[in-house]
Amino acid sequence: MDRSNRYGMSRRGFCLCCIGAGALGTNGWLTPREAFAEARGIVSLIKDSAATSQIVTHRLRNNVSVLEGSGGNVAVLTGPDGMVLIDAGIGVSQPQMAKALAGLGADPVTHLINTHWHFDHTDGNTWLHEAGAKIIAHKNTRKYLTEVQRVEEWDYNFLPLPPGGIPSDVFATERNLKLNGLSIDLKHYGPAHTDSDISVAFGEADILHVADTFWNGVYPFIDYSTGGSIDGMITASDANLAMATDKTIIIPGHGKPVSNKAELKEFRDMLVAIRENVAALKKQGHSKAEAVAAKPTAAFDPKFGNFVIDPGFFTRLVYEGV
Ligand SMILES: [Zn+2]
Repeated sequence: MDRSNRYGMSRRGFCLCCIGAGALGTNGWLTPREAFAEARGIVSLIKDSAATSQIVTHRLRNNVSVLEGSGGNVAVLTGPDGMVLIDAGIGVSQPQMAKALAGLGADPVTHLINTHWHFDHTDGNTWLHEAGAKIIAHKNTRKYLTEVQRVEEWDYNFLPLPPGGIPSDVFATERNLKLNGLSIDLKHYGPAHTDSDISVAFGEADILHVADTFWNGVYPFIDYSTGGSIDGMITASDANLAMATDKTIIIPGHGKPVSNKAELKEFRDMLVAIRENVAALKKQGHSKAEAVAAKPTAAFDPKFGNFVIDPGFFTRLVYEGV
């Protein structure tokens, strides 16, 4: 498959999470040297694509919208206290992002909340800080953004953000804000997709941004290099279900950006079923390659297997954690 076309055609946005899929054949890992070259190339492709991707605006309710098309799904709350952004997208999308924000109103950007440290959620931090945003995040997000961050699976080193892009206001467990008339509750998940993930609940609007603990309709990436695990993903999914009602609008980190409890439940049940299948194979003594060959995800592939985390890659991720 021509990778540049594959990445160029998608309008769901990109994730550093996706790099692994491109660096993998169906038969196994590339050598570290090859993977390094591949990962570098794919980061460039992601940036190149983000530079030209259109941003699609989805208006929700209570002045909350979602912007789709620059990395993870970005939520925006507008009002007299200034714009509050949940995640920053990719830096090279700045012109399209600025245009999309202008389309939501003339308020300056005053607050940016990072849901976790990954590149496709924080790369835009620097320009948004320069535009006036105070950056709030979990303390592990700040830690990871201030160090060279090595993701072993890609044999790739992400450099620290410039000082202005580093969150200046961090917390450990929970943080409650009141902005533009809405209660905004930030809550750390514990180890999930990484160990820096937080949920963001817009109380009176009944809107919940669940970061990369939920990939709507597609297999998720799990970042073991910074504390993620399949069991943590399941625990986070249960926490998300407990926070939501049938009326709650749920914003996933990736995938179709306006979601609901029924889709979240389907995602959670998929994680549980595949975890059980893969754990059984591992317990029987099967190697990672044999587990992939046994296709433990088959029942879910038509629905979830059509994005960059393909069935084999997802099986490997689950195998690592059971
Ligand atoms: Zn992520």
